Amino acid sequence: MVSQWPAQYARCPQCARTVPVRSGEVFCVNDGARLVTACPACTWPITSPYARYCPGCGGSYEALLEATHVRTGFR
Ligand SMILES: [Zn+2]
Ligand SMILES: [Zn+2]
Repeated sequence: MVSQWPAQYARCPQCARTVPVRSGEVFCVNDGARLVTACPACTWPITSPYARYCPGCGGSYEALLEATHVRTGFR
């Protein structure tokens, strides 16, 4: 009873590349950054490959993922 979501996507915080979670990819093939599957602020799943803002909290994915990127100390 959990599969209410049409699909979920993983998004690269570096290049904004988006792949379906079903692809099983964990890291971006372009730059090796870890893909993010949910909003870092409210954990709402990313349900559209074209979404630029989170439907759960209205936050900009670009800004939120950039913050995550910095916090994890990826270089
Ligand atoms: Zn990337
Ligand atoms: Zn959110």
